[in-house]
This record gives sequence, structure tokens and C-alpha cells, in this order.
Amino acid sequence: MDEPEFFDEGALIGVLTTQPLDRVLDYRAPEGGCWQGAFVEVPLGPRKVMGVVWGPGRGNWDPAKVRSVIRVLDVAPMRQEMRAFLQRAADYTLTPLPAMLRLATRAPGLGNPPSMRKVYRLGDGTPDRETEARRRVLDVLREYGGLAFTLKELSEAAGVSSSVVKGLVKQGVVREEDSPRDLPFHHLDPGFSGKTLTDDQQVAAEQLCDGIRSGGYGTTLLRGVTGSGKTEVYLEAVAECLRQGRQALVLLPEIALTAEFLTRVQARFGAQPAEWHSGVTMTERRRIWKMAGQGGVQLVIGARSALFLPFRDLGLIVVDEEHDNSYKQEDGVLYNARDMAVLRASLCGAQVVLASATPSLESWANAQAGKYARLELTARFGTAVLPEMRAIDMRAETLPSGRWISPSLQRAVQARVARGEQALLFLNRRGYAPVTVCRACGHQINCDHCDASMVEHRFLKRLMCHQCGETKPMPETCPECGAEGRLAPVGPGVERLAEEADALFPDARLAVLSSDLFASARALKEGVRAIAEGGADVVIGTQLVAKGHNFPNLTLVGVIDADLGLQGSDLRAAERTFQLMRQVAGRAGRLEKPGTALLQTYQPEHPVIRAILAGDEEGFWRAEAEGRRVAGVPPYGRMAGIIISSTDMQEAFDAGNLLARNDAPLRAIGAEVFGPAPAPIARIKGRHRVRLLVKAGKGVALQSALTKWVAQVKIKGDMRLAVDIDPQSF
Ligand code: ADP
Ligand code: ZN
Repeated sequence: MDEPEFFDEGALIGVLTTQPLDRVLDYRAPEGGCWQGAFVEVPLGPRKVMGVVWGPGRGNWDPAKVRSVIRVLDVAPMRQEMRAFLQRAADYTLTPLPAMLRLATRAPGLGNPPSMRKVYRLGDGTPDRETEARRRVLDVLREYGGLAFTLKELSEAAGVSSSVVKGLVKQGVVREEDSPRDLPFHHLDPGFSGKTLTDDQQVAAEQLCDGIRSGGYGTTLLRGVTGSGKTEVYLEAVAECLRQGRQALVLLPEIALTAEFLTRVQARFGAQPAEWHSGVTMTERRRIWKMAGQGGVQLVIGARSALFLPFRDLGLIVVDEEHDNSYKQEDGVLYNARDMAVLRASLCGAQVVLASATPSLESWANAQAGKYARLELTARFGTAVLPEMRAIDMRAETLPSGRWISPSLQRAVQARVARGEQALLFLNRRGYAPVTVCRACGHQINCDHCDASMVEHRFLKRLMCHQCGETKPMPETCPECGAEGRLAPVGPGVERLAEEADALFPDARLAVLSSDLFASARALKEGVRAIAEGGADVVIGTQLVAKGHNFPNLTLVGVIDADLGLQGSDLRAAERTFQLMRQVAGRAGRLEKPGTALLQTYQPEHPVIRAILAGDEEGFWRAEAEGRRVAGVPPYGRMAGIIISSTDMQEAFDAGNLLARNDAPLRAIGAEVFGPAPAPIARIKGRHRVRLLVKAGKGVALQSALTKWVAQVKIKGDMRLAVDIDPQSF
């Protein structure tokens, strides 16, 4: 990598700002000069904005009008490899660079001088008069030796009001000092404790550690059934990375998983790592951002946006549950965190570990092709065995209407509950009922702004659109014919399933695990912990439960509708259903107790259902890969989705048709265009959406062809055009 350049005072430099101007602007270096990569404040029109010194200026601007940088901010300059990463990520996802820079600076107040807070320690004076309250303050300070407290901490620990502490400060008995807010994180000790690994685990861990010791880039697909110890193994890689004095990042797909993970890190390394996700406070964000740049944080556990932190020396990125859909950002900048992790690591000489029980077809194919190393953990740790998987053929079960738990499943649940074990009923549908219809006129209640039915949420006593989030009270009369009391729920959601379970298992304690029943991520963590500790006999959950939680006493998983994901025309449907069913089944029998998974299905002969039941992953992947290869779709070909949206449907279609007719830039690289057609969801928030799909061979310059192609559309009015490279559905 090139060394950063230094620019003397007055030199012409190019500054990238976070403002939506798609180019680097010319400025003059400030007094004292500045380094390439420095964070600076520059004038832009009447405003001051933040930017990064990107390189030499272009000089295509009247020299007399070029303005000077106002000041260099007091944070570590952006490293060359980070600039390269943002540039490459922008090129790949066809995102303007300023939007990439915004992702990389998601911490408020970066330019402010380090902020201070007051802390309190033991001083040397003696109080003029001893009171009970004063004595308690001094006791706390003496007990903790030289430790400094904030005012709140100290008064709470002593059980006194803050004025007591302030009084002692006046007399010099307690010392008040300034202390920076942005402190380094607690030191993690790679040798703090470690489990004795099994032979399989040891081999895998050694190979990952060798990779770290090589000091270069490499990606490994770590595949192993749920409970096989993938986490234990990659924590050893984290330990090696820390021993080398480099930083590590672990990405998790779901905030709710972090609590459990933090506890494991604390047990392994003796201290807590930094946490980066939407629930982290602004002050803490700034601290993590700065410490990442200064090396004051060794390990970050985070959501996908943590990939854009300015690590000083990143040696390892773990992407846990790498197949998870939520790694694909679906608004704003459209990127897949798994792919971006590989890109970032390749630029900074880090190792990537992609961990999953059910890898994505993309990663599986990359491993087959030898691009990724592959490690397998085949056995579950200890005596835990994989659950037995069986189908319940719904064609042979008698079920009254409005009920979804078959008699066979009911008996299985009762048997577990009687033995004091937990059962999980899985249904991937939030709310009470997916559809509400009027029994008098047949009218179905839909969202006013989207092509989607309003989902009844009885717990919230409202109807909700799962596309745009709009809610409204449940009407008493039909909005169409005015009939009273004739609106009826159709089909099950988890809330309705809970009602049924309550009637079938009156003595069991029920818990419903669905994202909208918890007010916050913290409440959800609590809910998960309570269940893990035995606070429920029957758990009813959406896909939230499929994601890596540990429920040691859970021995039965009942899948209410195993066919749900097989409907629709999405080419990834089979892959998703396969992964989801395997993940859910993996919740059963985590520790000593053997588990069973029962899949309710109307199509037990469906090839995907058969592959799931047979546990034949390799066979499934091979068949699925062959189908994709023949169709020339990812990972054997490249795809891009173009979504044109507008409040005016005709306008969106006109733009789509214009692109379809003028496809010369695409034909030049042998790519094909499909559409325009209404997008899978044809209207969201009142905007009509039209989609075109582009299919190209591997190894063609797709991005530059796309750029030329879409530039033919004049974006006007409220029309928007978004390019989605590697779309999740096609
Ligand atoms: P995975 O990440 O593959 O789901 P985990 O690493 O979470 O698996 O392991 C499953 C459970 O088994 C955890 O509770 C873990 O602590 C335990 N475990 C795995 N390997 C070992 C080991 N070698 N020694 C002790 N406990 C282990
Ligand atoms: Zn809606």
C-alpha cells in the first residue's frame, strides 16, 4: 500500500466530504500542512462540513476561488487501506463515495476536542465534622483504593446525595479531577481461561491460528452443526489475534445475540469487549470509533456497520451465521456485510472466518472452488446428538378449521412437558393473523400505501403493514360494506398460535418470542435469558429463535408450516427454507438430552423437504448448485436488480421501458435485461416500484456497464433509481 502523502501549507488538495456531491473538491492545505487521510473541517458554501483529505487537488477550479481548510480534526487520520476499502466498496455497490464516507463516520462529535468529565478520588484533608453520610463516602473511597468515581457512581455507592460529596470536595477531603470520556477499553487477556478443545476443534482452531500468524489475508468457511463448538473455535482465533497485538471484529446477525456472547467473551478473556450496534449510545459510539483508530479497543462485537470502523490494525473478522439474510443491508447503501468483510480483510491483511451450520450457497461454492479454506466440525460437543427429523404429513391429520397444531404434534409436546423439558413451536409469521377479511362482503383489509395485507397484532390491538410499518386501530365495522362485527382473522401468526397452545396445554407455561412483543433489544435479551433458564415449558417463536440462542432444556421443535418458504417464485426459496429448517431443528437437544424435530408439511415428497429430513446437506447443495449453474444465476453468474420508484406508476414504467429498449451498454458485455415488471412488492409507502433484472456472466465489467446504462434515465421529480448488486431475491 502507498504511503500517505504530506501536503505543505497552501498546497492544492482534494477533500472528500460527507455531503451528497459526487466528487472530491479542491481546497488549500491549512497552516502547518496536513497528511493525506486527515479528517478536516472545510467551508462549503455558507457551511462548515467534515471531510477527509483524499489526495492531491485536481486543479480544475479557478485558483483564486479555492478556499482553505479551516482546521485539522484531532482524530487519527484515515488509513490508506481504509480509503482503498471505501473506494472499492463504492465501486462495487455503485454507491457515491460520500455515502460510503457517511457509513465510515457514524459517530457524532468526532471533531470536538476530547470531552472531559469530573471524577472523584480520596484527597488528603480531614472533614471539619464527622457525619454518618460523610463517613460512608470515605468508606467507599478507601475500600476501592485509588479508583476514581463519577459523582453519580460515588453518591449511589455510598447511598448519599451528591451534595454530601460536593461538601467534602470543598474541604479537600475528596479530590475532584477532569478525566477524558473516551477511555480505552478494559484489557482482554488471551490467556485468561480457555476450554479444553476436542480433537476436531483443536485441529480447526490450530488452522485458524496459523492463518492469523501468517499475518496475511485468507478466508475460511467454518462449517459445523449447531452446538459443535464453532464459537469456541473462533474464540481461539480471536485469542491468537490478540496475542499478536492486532484487533478483532466479530459480526453477529442479531442484537439479541450479543448479551449471551458478551458473557462468553467475559468468561474467556476476563473483560468485556466493545459493543457496536443501533442500541449503543452516542457517547459510547464516539468512544469506540476513536479507540478503534487508536488501538484502544482489542475486540468489537457488532452489527454489520462495525465493518466501517477505522481499526488501526485489524487482524481478524468473524462473520457468525454467515448465511443470515440480515447481513444484506436493504436500505440506504445496499451491501452484503459478508462480502464487504472479505474485501476489507483482503486490503488490510486480515483473516476472515465465516461460521455457519448452513452456509450460503455463495460461500459453499467459493470453498468448493478453493477460494476459501474449509473447516468442518461434524460432531456436537459432548454427548449432544443432532435431533431426529421427521415429517408430519398434514394430509393424514384431522384438524378443525382455525387450528394448526396437529394431534401428532400435540401429543409430542405433551410428552415433553410432562417430563419437564421444553418444546418450541416455530412459525415464521409475526402477529395474530396475516389476513383480515369481512365475512359479509369478502373485503380484505390492505395497507393504503403498499401492496400488502394489514396484519392483525392483537397484542398491540392494531393492524400493521409489515412493509411500511404503518399501523391503524382494528376497525369494528367493515370499511367496505359497513357490516358490524363481521371482520375475521384468516391464517395463523405466532400470537394466534399462542392462543391455540394455551387451550391445548393449559398447565404449561407459555412464552412467545417475536420481535414486536418486546419493547427494546434489552427486553428481548431478558426474555431469551428467562427462557434459557427454564422460565417456560412451551416456547412459540418466529425466526428470531432460529438465530443461535442456546436453550439447553429444549428437546422438541415443532415446525407449524414447513412449506411456508417454498411458495413464491424466488430462486433462493429452497436455500432459505433448507437453512431455516436446519437452524430451527438445531435448537433441539443442545446438551445431554436428545432432541426431535417434527415438520408439519403438505408436501413430504418435495425435494427440499426430503433433503431436510435426510440431513443430506452436501446432496442438497450439489443439486441446488447444479440448478443455479444451468440457469446462470449467482454464484455462477452475476445479477443486479434495478428498482425505479415513483409516486407516478406510469413514470416509473416509462423509465424502465426506456432502459429495456436502450440496452447497448449491457449487450456490449453479453448481459441480458429482464423487465420492467412490478417489483416483488409493487408499492411501498405510496411509491410504485418497477424492477429490472440484469443477468451477466462471471468476470465481466458489470459495474461500469451498469453505470453507463442507468445514466440514460433522467431522474426527475420524486423518482428514484437504486441499483442492487447481488440482490437477495431473483
Ligand atoms: P456453535 O457455535 O457451533 O453453536 P458453541 O461453541 O456455542 O457451538 O458450543 C455449544 C456448547 O458446547 C456451548 O455451551 C459451549 O460452551 C460448549 N462447548 C463446546 N466445545 C466445548 C469444549 N471443548 N469444552 C467445553 N464446552 C464446550
Ligand atoms: Zn404499508
